Amino acid sequence: MANIEFTTDIQFLKGVGPRRGEVLAEHGIDTVGKLLFYFPRKYIDRSTVATIASLQENDYKTVVGKVLGKGLLKGGKTRLEVIIGDETGHLSLLWFAGWRFLEKQFKKGDILAVTGTISYFQGFQMLHPEYEFIGDDTEQIHTGRIVPIYHQTAELNKVGLSSRSIRRLIKTALDAVGNGIEEYLPEVIIQSEQLLSLPEAIHNIHYPQDAVAAEKARLRLAFDELLYVQYLIHGRKRKYQQKEKVDVCKPPGKTFTKVLDNLPFKLTPGQSQSLRQIVEDMTAKKPMNRLLQGDVGSGKTVVAILAAVLAVENGGQAAMMVPTEILAGQHYENWKEILASVGINSALLIGSIKTAERREILAGLDSGEIHVVFGTHAIIGKTVTFADLRLVIVDEQHRFGVMQRSKLVDKGAVPDRLVMTATPIPRTLAMTLYGDLDVSTIPDLPPGRSPVQTVWRFSSKIGDIYKYIDSELNKGNQAFVIYPLVEKSEKMDLQAAEDGYKELKALLPNRKVGLVHGQMKAEKRDKTIHDFHDKKYDILVATTVIEVGIDVPNANILVIQHAERFGLSQLHQMRGRVGRGKVRGLTVAVAYQPVSDVGRRRLEYFTSTTDGFKIAEADLELRGPGEVFGTRQHGLPEFRLANPITDQELLIRAREWAEKLHKKAAKDSASIEFLLNHAAVFSNLKPDLVDVA
Ligand code: ADP
Ligand code: MG
Repeated sequence: MANIEFTTDIQFLKGVGPRRGEVLAEHGIDTVGKLLFYFPRKYIDRSTVATIASLQENDYKTVVGKVLGKGLLKGGKTRLEVIIGDETGHLSLLWFAGWRFLEKQFKKGDILAVTGTISYFQGFQMLHPEYEFIGDDTEQIHTGRIVPIYHQTAELNKVGLSSRSIRRLIKTALDAVGNGIEEYLPEVIIQSEQLLSLPEAIHNIHYPQDAVAAEKARLRLAFDELLYVQYLIHGRKRKYQQKEKVDVCKPPGKTFTKVLDNLPFKLTPGQSQSLRQIVEDMTAKKPMNRLLQGDVGSGKTVVAILAAVLAVENGGQAAMMVPTEILAGQHYENWKEILASVGINSALLIGSIKTAERREILAGLDSGEIHVVFGTHAIIGKTVTFADLRLVIVDEQHRFGVMQRSKLVDKGAVPDRLVMTATPIPRTLAMTLYGDLDVSTIPDLPPGRSPVQTVWRFSSKIGDIYKYIDSELNKGNQAFVIYPLVEKSEKMDLQAAEDGYKELKALLPNRKVGLVHGQMKAEKRDKTIHDFHDKKYDILVATTVIEVGIDVPNANILVIQHAERFGLSQLHQMRGRVGRGKVRGLTVAVAYQPVSDVGRRRLEYFTSTTDGFKIAEADLELRGPGEVFGTRQHGLPEFRLANPITDQELLIRAREWAEKLHKKAAKDSASIEFLLNHAAVFSNLKPDLVDVA
């Protein structure tokens, strides 16, 4: 093999080649060095693995065993059985769903680590265990006590890159360049923070002696990650502080007051306070850069509308970008007349409108005749130009890429910016991570809402649940049934939703049931949702596509299938779909075994409160260190190793260093060179951070 270095193209690493190389590059791994920065998703500690002979009923354990055989069992519900064995005995693994996909996964001789709850029926078994491939009996497993498990995607699998083969490649890469990894942090930081050196950290993150060594390696690399993020945030803040608006709004006048007075309700204290803060920003020289956070249903929209009115009253335009066409349409329908009553022209700009209409809207925005536009990312299209865009509003901001957000900002000179989210993060964390954003919070809900009643049940009760729902539908209600859909197991998930849909139709033949999912044409999906809105369906089965924003006040019941797979904030967002009308809402979270301890705590917590802020905090806390930190929901950068809640100490130190480095870089640009190298390595974080609006 030719000389392999950190920067060598990944395809030249032994065991890769052009085809795999291409797929790896698509995953951001285009060099040997980047492969070394592909960190394990988790570890399996063999010393804590149970032997099959030691298992007892109801234990929740991890077992390592070799696949001895598999087969489909018919008669009753079809299920896949896989038998594994270790030196002490045999264990049967059973899947009642998704077996079509799973059947192809397991081969005789594969060595698996399986985790789940033990049940007993003519022998010990696990239902729907979590499983990881560790190796097979043809290979010398160089794995020690701690086995790293790597994230794998469908595309990686297609070219034979399972967690196991990724592990092998990483070993090859480590052997080739491990000692040549160049330290990029200044010595002074390593010394005073007592961090592992980079080569040591890289080695130990993949092949730790024990859990302590793995954690030390994680800490070092998590520090790097946080430092990088803090460095960028700090830079963004400096840049933003230097800007000045072209036009500054005058305090609210007649138009604003008229809209406010004509609202069918009084603003809540939280809405009033947020609005005051926004008005203050908009009447100041520095551009507004504000995050408005408030629980689902807290009434963020009206606050944003009033801000838009202020911009228009001062001769400018406002744009509100939302993640779905349905939501955009809803906002437009709700507000166009109220706005028109004070002479404000509004329009709806989405991908699916007719060309002629679109042309007209574009002309209106360009001339300034249209004052307020509601829309999807269609608003950021190249052909869209504004006469004088003064206010940019982004709803459900975490649904947008940062590039999209800043493209909208670029359509004005120096517009004020308001981003909104229903998935708040704790205040201290917001201050640290959004150091450059001011935060307004609506802590209260409008009066008269009754909290959604929430329960969770195991899937064995599903028959009863649907019977109960059937009786509730008799009262004229409608229901959502939601299935998870994640990239990693997309095929299986879609099948589960489709199976669930058929099952439900068979179970409740007198009900009209609709189905929507992400693989459908947008048109058909939107039509089905509209039809549901118009009561043409009693029940809507959906994958998580409906999670955001849609408003069907009559749909009062929500069933969340596989609730054990959702994060708390996601569960809460979904719950926000119901309980919007006069009737009290009901949410039933249905969990499938095995449910881990954390999963159970999550479900308990979910049913115990409807306070979105408490939920958000608990959500961040319940994610253990080492777990992939699912931060997209919060609009936070997607950390790979750092957990800003549990690593708060580290975060604060990284922030201090970032500030010092900025000061130094102002005088001596060479000193930040390492951070640029760094940037290449943590490039997955970058998109969320180049938001220099
Ligand atoms: P979210 O914060 O989730 O975006 P919305 O802005 O969609 O919430 O508001 C939810 C519902 O509450 C809307 O129907 C809205 O008209 C209503 N609403 C907003 N503010 C108030 C208020 N102060 N009093 C009563 N109802 C309100
Ligand atoms: Mg909203």
